Amino acid sequence: MYYDLRDRTDLPSNLCIRAYSKAVEAMKSTVEDWKDGESRPLPSFDQPSAVYDKRTLTIRDRSATLSTVNGRIEVEYVLGEYQRSYLDDDEHERRMGTLHYREDEDAFYLHIVLLKEVEKRDGDRVMGVDLNLKNVAVTSTGAFYDGGELLWGQNHYFRVRRSLQGKDTRPAKQALARLSGRENRFVLDRLHTISRRLVEEARSHDCSYIAVERLTHIRERMDSHDDRIKRQMHNWAFRELQEMIAYKAAEYGIRVEDVNPAFSSQTCSKCGHQSGTNRDGDTGWFECNECGYELDGDYNAAKNIGKRLLTVPEGKRPSGLGDGQLALKSGTVNGNGEYTPDDPSRSADRESTGKPHSQSAEGV
Ligand SMILES: [Zn+2]
Repeated sequence: MYYDLRDRTDLPSNLCIRAYSKAVEAMKSTVEDWKDGESRPLPSFDQPSAVYDKRTLTIRDRSATLSTVNGRIEVEYVLGEYQRSYLDDDEHERRMGTLHYREDEDAFYLHIVLLKEVEKRDGDRVMGVDLNLKNVAVTSTGAFYDGGELLWGQNHYFRVRRSLQGKDTRPAKQALARLSGRENRFVLDRLHTISRRLVEEARSHDCSYIAVERLTHIRERMDSHDDRIKRQMHNWAFRELQEMIAYKAAEYGIRVEDVNPAFSSQTCSKCGHQSGTNRDGDTGWFECNECGYELDGDYNAAKNIGKRLLTVPEGKRPSGLGDGQLALKSGTVNGNGEYTPDDPSRSADRESTGKPHSQSAEGV
């Protein structure tokens, strides 16, 4: 391919090599899936992008120089506070970058890979996280992240998409493609905010582990066409969210572990009683048939997810977790259910019945 590409384009040699390497990588992983019996279409690249390395890209604090078809050029960044904080942190080694062109905005984006060595965080505290439809994420420490307009099937993009979906015309298809790009960015933006806040929550409760549910099960009770789109959307979104939590947590040495979520919404996080009638399907409120404990259903599930990690059998549990402590709003509970308040003057009862505080990811 090399000489072909050199003949047909003005790309510098290094960018030619990167371009076909990228195509080869995509093809390789597709062929791997075919060998595993998965049906998968041939890879395609719907947005133009170019891979840069040390020789073709120099990353400075506020600008970069890049090899282009018109020689080496210098460009200034348009930066947000988040990006600035990473560029100003000398502990990050700057590696490579990918230049993306977004047609709908007529703008270039430079994605930079940064490398930072971190040590695993000591300690045995676990924060449980429940991912669900109503709230996007709820933690065992009582933080709710509702994601604002991220309510599945109710936001603007979803409604427009649904109206276009049935139409088989070329303009409708183009509109759909443009929309899904914008929609994905809208959702990803919210998920970035939520994952960042989740990791901050874990840090503020001194947690070394975040327990999340293993996303292998397919969500039930969704049969209609609308529901299928919704399911695809949120399966994708939840996978993205878990990946974001994992790499954002890794920066602070916090490990993300997944646990089996079976019956986590039906089980009482206080006494362990499991019943399909513990939780009100309409309101999502949880009231235990056995011990009478009541709280928000997703909050209850988050505590169960966290507890699952504490009760993973010896040998399969993460090394370093020890006996483990589940972080709650103002204290911890161990695998046997023994509660330790952070502030000894507070009683155990207050933790167990307290209403969780609500946090919205809107406008952050
Ligand atoms: Zn109970």
